[in-house]
Amino acid sequence: MKKFGWLVLLASQFAVVTGFWAYDHVNHPMGNLLTGEPVGQYLAYGRLAGLLAVLLILFQLMLIGRVKWLEQTFGLDRMANLHHFIGFGIVVFLVAHPLLVTMGHSMQAGTGFLDQYIDFCRNWEDVLAAVIGIAIMAVAIFFSILVLKKWVKYEVWYYSHLPFYVAILLAFGHQFEVGSDFTGNRYFAGYWYAIYAFTFANLIHYRFLRPVIFYLRHRFKIEKIVQESGDVTSVYIEGRNMEFFPVEAGQFMIVRFWTKGFRWEAHPFSMSFCPDGKRIRLSIKALGDFTRRIPRLKPGTPVFIDGPHGVFISSRCKTSKVLLVAGGIGITPIRALSEEMSAKKLDVILIYANRNRAAIVFEKELDDLVKASEGRLKVIHILSEDPEWNGEKGRLDMGKIQRLVPDFLERDIYLCGPPLMMKIMLKTFAGIKVPKSSIHFEKFAL
Ligand SMILES: Cc1cc2nc3c(=O)[nH]c(=O)nc-3n(C[C@H](O)[C@H](O)[C@H](O)COP(=O)(O)OP(=O)(O)OC[C@H]3O[C@@H](n4cnc5c(N)ncnc54)[C@H](O)[C@@H]3O)c2cc1C
Repeated sequence: MKKFGWLVLLASQFAVVTGFWAYDHVNHPMGNLLTGEPVGQYLAYGRLAGLLAVLLILFQLMLIGRVKWLEQTFGLDRMANLHHFIGFGIVVFLVAHPLLVTMGHSMQAGTGFLDQYIDFCRNWEDVLAAVIGIAIMAVAIFFSILVLKKWVKYEVWYYSHLPFYVAILLAFGHQFEVGSDFTGNRYFAGYWYAIYAFTFANLIHYRFLRPVIFYLRHRFKIEKIVQESGDVTSVYIEGRNMEFFPVEAGQFMIVRFWTKGFRWEAHPFSMSFCPDGKRIRLSIKALGDFTRRIPRLKPGTPVFIDGPHGVFISSRCKTSKVLLVAGGIGITPIRALSEEMSAKKLDVILIYANRNRAAIVFEKELDDLVKASEGRLKVIHILSEDPEWNGEKGRLDMGKIQRLVPDFLERDIYLCGPPLMMKIMLKTFAGIKVPKSSIHFEKFAL
């Protein structure tokens, strides 16, 4: 219901904007532009495209702003997915707006399209700044396509997005200087200022101020670095008043290590044990240029933490029986959840899939948790490429789940692993009609 309420509130902004726009253009001094001559229609729909582009851009800022109250309802990964999807929708409006408005004005003035466009840039207040802003946005969107295709590094894409903020500011002025929607309707102008202010207040607070406030409050620093099995390193982070740092098992945070060679990048990692009010542990697999450098970190290094984030938490569980499924490094939040859930006296089965025995992370810790759980936690390892292994072999599939966990339909299912495994498992669970509300998952991709 909460989710539905937020969705209605967000969708209603589009209704409000379209309503103001329709009112202004039906009651226009030149007559009803929506049903009149094509020139009026070009102008009207061109302006609508501009309004919707801005509204979607503000919505995008809310989606990537790590806004707590939105994130607690929808989850950051879903919001990030929606952000990528909407990004491409904005292109349509960003192209349509100058195109239609220029066509409308050139028809009105009896000039050519190009002459009209040049006139806009030279003589109309703040329009040139807006044109530059749109060009910057186009470059950022182009980089997003490249990163999706994995042709450029994540960091290049990240930094190519920063000028987007400048672009938004550049495009702001012309809306009030030449946008007849606002010059002629002070209520609409007031509403427009309000949604800008609301968006930027949320963005600045959650994205920029909150990590600094948390740092000042807790003074996070690395306590120790511990090599786990294979290529996984655990970073223990301590700080002041850690009992008041509101992290839950299953959540993740976006961390920035404040030392040479690390401070320009912030990466998301999950808490890998159940919060004990004293320290945080992140267990990081060396997968790329940043994560490969983790073992070089030194105790005492300050850490900025953005978070905790995520709704992959035990309070979302509706039954007393749980199936946890982890693949590879996806074990980090699952390990923390298994500890918390068995302590809460839930009946927990953990299936942990890996290539070989050397790749199993926390093998000893999991054994200890099983012993301490007095039968409430059962861990089943599945190895796909280990001839020496006497336990479950091969890939995790529906047949194995049905055999190993016959009552899986009575359980809440928590899933975290490599993208391919997640895709297959989610499809499989959907195929056998496991209710969507029983499946909880965390994707290691934003
Ligand atoms: C919610 C979440 C929780 C995670 N928890 C863990 C964990 O507990 N342990 C662990 O080892 N890994 C975890 N990851 C994955 C980890 O963030 C990436 O492996 C790491 O950022 C890769 O960085 P890299 O530069 O070494 O690798 P690269 O080769 O540069 O990146 C590999 C891929 O990681 C993603 N990525 C890179 N940088 C970022 C970034 N700054 N923000 C978001 N995604 C990025 C991109 O999809 C990229 O294609 C988690 C990811 C997410 C989204």
